Amino acid sequence: MKIIETVGEVQADARERTSRSVLVPTMGALHRGHLELVRVAREHAGKDGEVAVSIFVNPLQFEPGSDFEKYPRPESVDENVCRDAGVNLLFRPNDMYFDDRSVYVEETALSAGLCGAARPGHFRGVCTVVAKLFNLLAPDAAVFGEKDHQQLAIIRRMVRDLNFPIEIIGVPTVREADGLALSSRNQYLNADERAQATVLYRAMTRVKELADGGQKSVGELIDVAKGVIASAKSARVDYISIVDADNLQPLGVLQPNAVIALAVFVGKTRLIDNLRLW
Ligand code: AMP
Repeated sequence: MKIIETVGEVQADARERTSRSVLVPTMGALHRGHLELVRVAREHAGKDGEVAVSIFVNPLQFEPGSDFEKYPRPESVDENVCRDAGVNLLFRPNDMYFDDRSVYVEETALSAGLCGAARPGHFRGVCTVVAKLFNLLAPDAAVFGEKDHQQLAIIRRMVRDLNFPIEIIGVPTVREADGLALSSRNQYLNADERAQATVLYRAMTRVKELADGGQKSVGELIDVAKGVIASAKSARVDYISIVDADNLQPLGVLQPNAVIALAVFVGKTRLIDNLRLW
């Protein structure tokens, strides 16, 4: 496995590459969810192709006062995980931004609601770093998790609107046995909070049951979800929305392409999840 830590070297490497390349962008603290993305990347790259993983805790996507400093950075563990998973190139840059940077990539429609409303500037940071990674590594395809549904929709829009010649591949959310979506932030939870964190999945699956049973009122479905979340004493809703999966517009009545998306604080840890309803 090749390890590259500077922008200049990864650009030179990409220029010389002749094989197909599939990129998996991450912030590290790798778990089974990330490994599923790597597995899918290998399927798309082929055995002679290149699977590239980037690990970069992107300061631009953390709003002031959030967990940028304490975000886990288990560098050597991540390196071994990548090697064991058959990754060909690990890019962990230490020179991504100029101090006087002044150009950003901003998506202006899909970023307005959900996590974009709760975390101002977050998706500008995400789009900027992903656009930079696309320019630097020039992959043929890139793999993202549906766990971050809004992020995936925004990246698809960025690629469409800015004509990146890169295929975007979405991967279904990998969950623990009790339904909790795997996340690097789950390690912030203490044992009691971890037990309560299943409330996100329980709320979404309860809503899905009612939707499957014919309940069409989004207001009532969201009230049910709020009720389930309220049953966990350390949980506090940040947002719960039912939106169109592609344009992320809130729905009043359930219709095809509906997805429920939510962000919930469990203790001090903010967890997000989503589930397709129709
Ligand atoms: P992160 O390191 O949290 O920025 O995530 C890197 C990529 O892994 C993103 O595309 C995420 O959507 C994806 N990802 C994170 N957790 C999961 C999961 N539980 N299942 C599937 N993909 C995931």
